[in-house]
Amino acid sequence: MSDPVDPPKSHGRLSIKASLKPRDLLEEPRVVRGAWTAKVITLFPEAFPGTLGLSLTGKALDFGLWRLETIDLRPFGVGKHLNVDDTPAGGGAGMVLRPDVVDAALAAAAEGTPADRARWPVIYLSPRGKPFDQATARRFAACDGITLLCGRFEGVDQRVLDHRGIEEVSLGDFVLTGGEIAATALIDATVRLIPRVLGNQVSTEEESFSEGLLEFPQYTRPTDWQGRAIPEVLQSGHHANIATWRKAMAERLTKERRPDLWRAYCAKHGRDPNEDQEL
Ligand code: SAH
Repeated sequence: MSDPVDPPKSHGRLSIKASLKPRDLLEEPRVVRGAWTAKVITLFPEAFPGTLGLSLTGKALDFGLWRLETIDLRPFGVGKHLNVDDTPAGGGAGMVLRPDVVDAALAAAAEGTPADRARWPVIYLSPRGKPFDQATARRFAACDGITLLCGRFEGVDQRVLDHRGIEEVSLGDFVLTGGEIAATALIDATVRLIPRVLGNQVSTEEESFSEGLLEFPQYTRPTDWQGRAIPEVLQSGHHANIATWRKAMAERLTKERRPDLWRAYCAKHGRDPNEDQEL
């Protein structure tokens, strides 16, 4: 087990909600607030923090705004060789991670975490899972933390997933070699939604998916490049026009590229998905 981060003591502080009413200290439980924590069970702890240690997520990790704990699956292995896997029942290629080994690692990860899955989801990264999306990232970011199980080889014995009621999440309709890249992506998308992680550098309100739309096109200097100019409205300084243009572009891109998102957006806003858009 390794814990690369040693967060400042301030992150174990008590959080007391502001209120005009006199508070009843006996009735109101005081909440000990820790930083959002990802516990990752993996055969390859050296894969972490990986890119999560860079740039904004890395700085936030250094500042203790979130925490990362890797749990090496190997020491939970059985026998002299600490075996973690065995051949698939019923035959076939590859190896399957053993339920007893994975269960022991999950038990170790559960120490010190709330049993309520709404506060601390326990996830197996798997191509069979529910596709990960921005709404799921938001749900995870609102939790106290998360436990992520990274599979390898042919995956994990079904019984331990059933036994522990583990939620499966997929990064998309493709097959990776292991769950580590998927876990990294899930953590990255989640951590950037935690207040103060991005600072002022990026707004999560305007970007892709925040309103169910893809983001509008972005431009920066030089103003003219390869005979292509930045759209005039963006240089006008007229904020209302810029906002209107960006919204229209976001809608157009979404309609063209993601009819699924576009239909959902129109249904939500009582609009006809086949309406003509004027730009
Ligand atoms: N035999 C499995 C694939 C195993 S891939 C199947 O056909 O479903 C090995 C591991 O990589 C999995 O256990 C899982 O943890 C991870 N993985 C592969 N593809 C993934 C995806 N699209 N999303 C999340 N995790 C994935």
